[in-house]
Amino acid sequence: MVGGAVRPARGPVGVVVSWDEQPSPSSRRPRKGWDRVRRRVLRRDGHECQIRGPQCLVAATEVDHIVNVASGGTDDPENLRAACRPCNRAKAQAEAAAARRARSAGGRHPTERHPGLL
Ligand SMILES: [Zn+2]
Repeated sequence: MVGGAVRPARGPVGVVVSWDEQPSPSSRRPRKGWDRVRRRVLRRDGHECQIRGPQCLVAATEVDHIVNVASGGTDDPENLRAACRPCNRAKAQAEAAAARRARSAGGRHPTERHPGLL
């Protein structure tokens, strides 16, 4: 005998879209000619990651600013080197952390006494 409860068809309810899956802002660097510069640097450095050097076994697919743009670095090939994604991310994070430290060390708190306290 064929029996059993017929289960109601369930639609795709409750699909959770993570906020983390937003597209990354790859348009961050809309500079003209960047792609050509990037390819040239990668070829110049033989697609070898220059951040960690020969001990890095990940193929370089990105280009790192040796002096980052926020610190006045330029897109000049002299300031560019091939980098793999993990090393480049790690460097960017370290730089961001250093920048945060520098900002907070610079002090958001004024050293002079607040006039209201006088
Ligand atoms: Zn690397």
